[in-house]
Amino acid sequence: MPDSRANCARDGVPAQAPRPTDAADVARVVRVLLPLPLAGPLDYLVPDELAVPEAGSFVRVPLGSRRAIGVIWGGVAPDVPVDRLKPLVESLPTPPLEPALRAFIERAAAYNLAPAGAVLRMAMSVEDALLPPRPRRLCAISAAGAAVLHNPDGGTSGDGKLTAARRRVLETLHEQGACAVTEASRLAGCGVGVVRTLIGAGLVDEVLLAGDPPAPPLPRWDTEGPALSRDQQNAADRLLARTQADGFSVTVLDGVTGSGKTETYFAAIASALAAERQVLVLLPEIALSAQWLHRFRRRFGATPVEWHSDVSHAGRRDAWRGVASGRARVVVGARSALFLPFPELGLIIVDEEHDPSFKQEDGVSYQARDMAVLRASIAGIPIVLVSATPSLETVINVARGRYARVALPRRHAEAALPEISLVDMRRERLESGRFLSARLVEAVSTTLAAGEQVLLFLNRRGYAPLTLCRACGFRLQCPSCTAWLVEHRFNGRLMCHHCGYQAPLPALCPECLASGSLVPCGPGVERLKEEVAVRFPAARTALMVSDLLAGPRAAAELADAMVAHRYDVLIGTQIVAKGHHFPMLTLVGVVDADLGLSGGDLRAAERTYQLLHQVAGRAGREQRPGHVLLQTYMPEQPVMRALASGDRDGFLEAEAASRRTAALPPFGRLAALIVSANEPEAADFTAQALARAAPQLPGVSVLGPAPAPLAILRGRHRRRFLVKAERSVNLQAVLRDWVSRVKLSGSTRLQIDVDPYSFL
Ligand code: ADP
Ligand code: ZN
Ligand code: ZN
Repeated sequence: MPDSRANCARDGVPAQAPRPTDAADVARVVRVLLPLPLAGPLDYLVPDELAVPEAGSFVRVPLGSRRAIGVIWGGVAPDVPVDRLKPLVESLPTPPLEPALRAFIERAAAYNLAPAGAVLRMAMSVEDALLPPRPRRLCAISAAGAAVLHNPDGGTSGDGKLTAARRRVLETLHEQGACAVTEASRLAGCGVGVVRTLIGAGLVDEVLLAGDPPAPPLPRWDTEGPALSRDQQNAADRLLARTQADGFSVTVLDGVTGSGKTETYFAAIASALAAERQVLVLLPEIALSAQWLHRFRRRFGATPVEWHSDVSHAGRRDAWRGVASGRARVVVGARSALFLPFPELGLIIVDEEHDPSFKQEDGVSYQARDMAVLRASIAGIPIVLVSATPSLETVINVARGRYARVALPRRHAEAALPEISLVDMRRERLESGRFLSARLVEAVSTTLAAGEQVLLFLNRRGYAPLTLCRACGFRLQCPSCTAWLVEHRFNGRLMCHHCGYQAPLPALCPECLASGSLVPCGPGVERLKEEVAVRFPAARTALMVSDLLAGPRAAAELADAMVAHRYDVLIGTQIVAKGHHFPMLTLVGVVDADLGLSGGDLRAAERTYQLLHQVAGRAGREQRPGHVLLQTYMPEQPVMRALASGDRDGFLEAEAASRRTAALPPFGRLAALIVSANEPEAADFTAQALARAAPQLPGVSVLGPAPAPLAILRGRHRRRFLVKAERSVNLQAVLRDWVSRVKLSGSTRLQIDVDPYSFL
């Protein structure tokens, strides 16, 4: 990728500088890949007093006026002017990166057109994990704390009552053992002040830890899981036959929601653990998967190591070291867990493999599911892709015979799949500010009267997606993005969901200065909650939205409260769609089923199908049958018809046919180039230069440049190209050649997104 920083090789000399030297010196030249977006490794000289480190070793080297940690990147250094090389400072006592991981880093970089150093950075994102541990302060529950926790009636301390937050902290420490204060507060979903108060009250002790924390308890693979049904046993047998075989294989575990896919792949995890291998489980939006962790704990008697952005720095440091040393046997993580240094990886599971959050868009863009398959193939190990609604890519790979499919066709036990009906909103006469159809309202009443629970799904945070002035028509917009501001009533602010800008709701219209003229347009979940409160005043209603939940434990508590039936109606965004199992939930109402269908996203229909199918799957998971009502203005739309008739495979066939006709993925290749700059002229200038240099090759077409739909994002002006290529074209080579011919200057940046999922 062209990057102005790619030339900053003042210290190490860029690899491949020509010049012969004598052989003794050459043997002491090493190539070091630094975790920076440089063009390639830099060459350094190993001083005589140091042994030449083996490939993969972590070393410290001079870089400009500072020092940096990098990795010995194998390969023989070419003819190099040795006298110009700077000396290596030291080798670090960290286990070297395995050849398989180094190969993975290079291949992932090449595929995604990212500098290898930028990918390496993801594999060593916690730099102090590479250094010997320093003594640290941890906190642990004290005897007094344990007594309070187990004796709720006497549950007071010198500091007054045991609040819910304090109880969560004690519970966390009780389950987790000693951990850093920040980690305890994250897991408990409270501020560090709460932990400090407990320390002050003597309910939590502070302890000083010298080395690495004690190894996490090992998951017990030999405990019995639940007795599997015949279907499940068949699926497990087939899955095990594949995952126990040596070598690389991809298996798709395809089963309706609630069919027992998790139980089935737990069997594969148990068998990998029995074979003394490490296991990586990738989950989307891991922070929200408390129920998954709970199940894992119940089955294996230990908590897996977590890896995602919510884990504190200290927690990630311990996780990285635990993985590298082999002490951590099972890691459950978000996409970046893919770059952890497992020495004994034996199995990868990608759960909800269709989930769009596996695609990373910032920094190095990559599709974690696809990269997981790459990592498995390089490591020569099995990988399992799990979904109730596999992505079209995966379905086509099964059809092409590359992946094997293991199916779980039925829900477990008595549960039937919910019945899905469409509500034609074109026929509804809704009062303004109301969003629930008469039919949905009636279904909610009936459900509540039967003592059952309701989920209302609306994939929109906040109160209203748009605020406009009734007097002059002005729409409140983000000052740095082409996007409307979303009103959030819980904190009385307007927010931009793209850049995080916030402002209080103004009293006057900023345009015409009219007062009291600003009105909310359209529904968000907060507004829906108001409607529910008016229509069903007796119902106990909760909102499940990421911005209202303080951390995973708070999400888990809300889920527990639903299971315990302390709420009647749950209103939520897509975070309610995943994983939850609420036995008394029998009605799901989708308030705006059409929401995901607009815009130029080639996967819009597929995603809408997947999301709504998943939401629908929350209904009727046990004995009581479930019903789903989808409110739509497009009841004839193929997605809606497929959902209503339950014809998933028919839908996928139609979707595949239309993508094949248009030569879109997975039948053709796609890449996006996004030029951005602080000034629109600069963005246009580079976009034009790229346009002039655009490849003119058979089987390749370039669309654009065009202003991106999000034409301004965080104050940067954006232009897009879309490159379409036939499957036989080496798209990466074409792109590399193209962008190498255009120079970027000033604030201009070029982002390359191979196989884009977002078209904004
Ligand atoms: P999926 O992953 O396909 O959605 P799960 O594995 O979550 O399905 O199973 C759905 C529910 O049924 C869970 O509550 C699970 O504990 C339960 N379940 C599945 N299989 C069994 C089984 N063989 N015995 C007991 N409970 C089971
Ligand atoms: Zn106005
Ligand atoms: Zn913004």
